[in-house]
Formats: sequence, C-alpha cells, structure tokens
Amino acid sequence: GRIDPDQEMIDIRMNVIKHKILVMSGKGGVGKSTVGCMLAQVLASQSCKVGVVDLDICGPSIPKLLSVEDQVVVNTEYGWKTLLSPHNGIKVMSVEDQEKQVCLHVSKCILVNGLIKRFFKDTFWGKLDYLICDTPPGTSDEHLTAIKVLKNVRPDGAIIVTTSQGVSIATVRREVNFCRKMGVKILGLVVNMSTFVCPCCDELTNIFPEDEIEKLSEEQKIPILARIPIDTRVTACCEVGRNPVIEHPNSQAIKCMEQLVRSL
Ligand code: ADP
Repeated sequence: GRIDPDQEMIDIRMNVIKHKILVMSGKGGVGKSTVGCMLAQVLASQSCKVGVVDLDICGPSIPKLLSVEDQVVVNTEYGWKTLLSPHNGIKVMSVEDQEKQVCLHVSKCILVNGLIKRFFKDTFWGKLDYLICDTPPGTSDEHLTAIKVLKNVRPDGAIIVTTSQGVSIATVRREVNFCRKMGVKILGLVVNMSTFVCPCCDELTNIFPEDEIEKLSEEQKIPILARIPIDTRVTACCEVGRNPVIEHPNSQAIKCMEQLVRSL
C-alpha cells in the first residue's frame, strides 16, 4: 500500500522513544492526571528521560501539575519544542492557553483529532525512555478520537486508574471492553485513593471496600499494579505545581508509585 507521510513522521519520532504508556480512566476525578504525573516524576527521579503529553485537551491539568503554565509552545525547524518542567527536566506537550481550549470546544472532533496527531507527528521529543500519555476520561467525546490516534503511536499499553467505588468500577469495565475492542493492551489497574494516610502517624485507613475491583481484576485477568493512598502531602504539592517525589520521597503514596514503576 501507499505510505502515509503523517504515519511515517510519527514512526520516526516514536522510534526513538523506548516506552509509551497510556494513562486512562473511565471517568474524571479519580486521579488519572495526578497518578500519570507522579509516574513521570518517579521515573525522572530514577534518571529516566521522560516526556508527558497531555491529550486531555478540554480539561488539561498537566501544565499546572508539572509547573509549565507560564511557558508557550514554539515552533522550530525540528518541530514543536516541548515545554520543560522544573521537575527533573520532564518534557511536556499540552494546549497551553485557555482561548485555544475554548475554540476547541466549538468543533471538537476534527480539531482534537488534528491536534492530538500533531503532538506526536510535529513535536520534537528527541530520545526518551518513557512517554506518558494522559488521555481524556472515558466519558468524553475526545476519548475515542484520542485512542484512535494513539494506536498509531504503538503504545506498550494502558494503565487504567480508578477508585474502588461502585460508580467508578462500572466505568472501568466499559474502559476495559473499549481497550480490547481497540486492540490496546491493558498493563493493569491502579486503585487510587484506596486508603487514607493519617498525617500524624502514617496509619492507613480503608476508604471503599475493594472486593468489587478485586473481582473485576480476577474475572478480566488484569492485575492491580498498585494501590495509592490519599495523601494530603501529595495534594498540597500538586495544587501548587511542586514535585511530591522530591518533597516527600518517604510518603506512602510515593512508595506505592515506586511499586507501580517496578511492575512496568
Ligand atoms: P482526574 O485526572 O482523574 O480528573 P486529578 O488527577 O485531577 O483527577 O485528581 C483529582 C483531585 O484529587 C486533584 O485535586 C488531586 O490533587 C487529588 N488527588 C488525586 N490522587 C490523590 C492522592 N492519591 N492523594 C491525594 N490527593 C489526590
């Protein structure tokens, strides 16, 4: 068949990136972006070269989490220059300004499709060990578009972030089916906000019963890669764009994230 020049360019750029990992969730608010960023931060702290691409075009939170909000994307002869996070030099690509986000809402599908493709085709990522792809939540229109484009990137697979509440689990089930239909490998589940860490004594308190998520894991043969506690030290850092891995390396949440990294 004919060679698609766009795909050829995507291949050239993606061939020098060892691992591409999708971070997905069935619904918003379960901590997908936070977990995706912490994953990038842990990898970067272990001397990996890491990029994060924010495909959650209509609700981007990566720029704030990785503290690149004051930077703008510029075009160079090598392609779009990535934003540089002060967090161990993580490279970031995202829609930067509010105005553009509003425009995108108007005629979403075509624009989102084009833009997401350009994040891979036109961005000069250079050589990376990991490219973490934060995807739009499963309930949004952009979700399908994003995954279609991401297929061309030939990802290692997807991590599905969830909480163990009944409402979240129903959306995970849908997400699992969706990935299987699309031929995206599922690396495993991450149960976020699984417990609460007491800020005084580090004691862990369970939040939601976990039998349902465990049942889903068994039934679908998808491992639970990590359980991340709610940790107020994480929230305090993330809210102001600081790096919890550097500031609280011994916190339970970061230790669980390190376990997730080991499982990859
Ligand atoms: P999503 O990307 O799924 O919409 P976010 O990553 O934006 O969710 O997280 C939602 C909120 O929950 C954020 O304010 C974030 O700081 C907080 N949060 C997520 N995970 C944790 C955690 N493990 N401990 C403490 N706060 C968390």
